[in-house]
Amino acid sequence: MENTQIIPTYHVVVEFDWHYPSQPVNTVVKEGIIQTASTDVGQAFIDSFKENYEIGVCTTSNFVVTKTERVFTFEEWIEKYNPVDNEISGSNSFEGYAFDYCNDCGDPECVACMEWEFVKQQDPKCVWTVLSEDDEEYAIYSGFHWINRFCYFVTNKPVEDEDVSKPYIVIE
Ligand SMILES: [Zn+2]
Repeated sequence: MENTQIIPTYHVVVEFDWHYPSQPVNTVVKEGIIQTASTDVGQAFIDSFKENYEIGVCTTSNFVVTKTERVFTFEEWIEKYNPVDNEISGSNSFEGYAFDYCNDCGDPECVACMEWEFVKQQDPKCVWTVLSEDDEEYAIYSGFHWINRFCYFVTNKPVEDEDVSKPYIVIE
């Protein structure tokens, strides 16, 4: 039987002491994203990097998990909202769901203008904006946004109340 259940993703922050002989103890803050089915998310995260700090004579101690936050991903968003393929440009950006935009450049052949026209005709509850938060980091938000926009998505299913301002993150 196929298991289609999505494994949850978390944003975790851990602090620990890193020792190497004849040096003062270093307190390290390690932050990351982990996808795990484990019930002990903090430990799963620690296990994912601990070895890298225990090379040679170095040792670690006093691990403290300071943050464990569930984050929601592009994959979960696809599963929940059933996005529409971009058949206008045929682009394969974001698995073919990305729609480009253009500010009425006036060129009747402009594909981005056609994509943007299509997006603007949709119910805003079925429109999502991909924001580029940092270099290479993308998050999907419900509705039309302009600042830091990267592209748009259109979904078959309208946004649910719980997701009106919740980001879905794109993990490379
Ligand atoms: Zn244009």
